Amino acid sequence: MKVISAEKKLCLSCMEEHEVKRVEVQEENVFKGVTVNYPARYEYCNRTDEFLTYDDSLITNDLAFKDAYRERVGLLTSREIVGIRKMYGVSQKDFCAILGWGSSTINRYENYQVQGVAHNDILRKLADDPKWFMELLNRAKDRLPQKAYLKYLGNAKEYYRLKQDEYARAHIETVHMKFDGDRILAGNTDLNLDKVVEVVGYLAQNIADLFLVKLLKMLWYSDSLHFKRYKRAISGLVYVALPMGAVPDAYKSLLLLEGIEYDEMQCNENISFRFKAPADFEIRFLSDTEIQVLDEVIERFKCHSGRDMVVAMHLEEAYKNTPENQPISYQYAESLSV
Ligand SMILES: [Zn+2]
Repeated sequence: MKVISAEKKLCLSCMEEHEVKRVEVQEENVFKGVTVNYPARYEYCNRTDEFLTYDDSLITNDLAFKDAYRERVGLLTSREIVGIRKMYGVSQKDFCAILGWGSSTINRYENYQVQGVAHNDILRKLADDPKWFMELLNRAKDRLPQKAYLKYLGNAKEYYRLKQDEYARAHIETVHMKFDGDRILAGNTDLNLDKVVEVVGYLAQNIADLFLVKLLKMLWYSDSLHFKRYKRAISGLVYVALPMGAVPDAYKSLLLLEGIEYDEMQCNENISFRFKAPADFEIRFLSDTEIQVLDEVIERFKCHSGRDMVVAMHLEEAYKNTPENQPISYQYAESLSV
């Protein structure tokens, strides 16, 4: 028996005034044939040795019981359901409307009723998939107040943005996993996406028109030069030899990372990305020697066009000696033209 608090007051068990303790005890109960243990709270009279419920402890004890059951059978707990709803900042009623459920369903799940597996799966998917939430939200648009709809949409978009970074990181890491242990392909360093984001920000901050082709080549030059000097690349990215030169494996996912920013520009028929440093850009992960190397690469290539970069790349031993679509080894760093 754990004591939560104590207060001198009229005891409703012995009907006398004395110090009454609020306590937590472990209880055992059976729900749908499953025996579970859970913490329950009571007021305790040490004179009658009796436990009494108080305020809404009957309700909260029942909820603790149901949540213990839910945890035991792998269902979302009431708190987790509240968490998913709050993630999108939605009211109970609107959440039901978005899901197409009866208007008090969520209220019941959050307070006393155990949800079935089907509803549980839907809630779990919502927690992981803001894009799907936006689809459901859109479907329910006419049933929601305009202001609320816009608020929920904003929350979902923000969450999606965060998720996107998570997805992109996971993808880049998975792709790089296949090179695991091959130090000469990864530049003798572990993949560090925080540094990648920072290198892109730093290059963008210091180069006026930084488009994708140039950026990707500059990443390779930066890593290669750092390897040449210190036997260790900056980012841990593995680069592949494409016709246009060196490109980090899974580079498309790099563009989705939080902190990598660009404007989309229409050039003739093509869309191109012009990179820019985030407004709050600051160096947190890169070392002084790494910055120094970046400065040299910037100085060398700042006036190169994307096409010039491709030409320069094609003259590098590392590129000439790597078959198309194959990873470029850092073993050629010694012969780097920079
Ligand atoms: Zn008493």
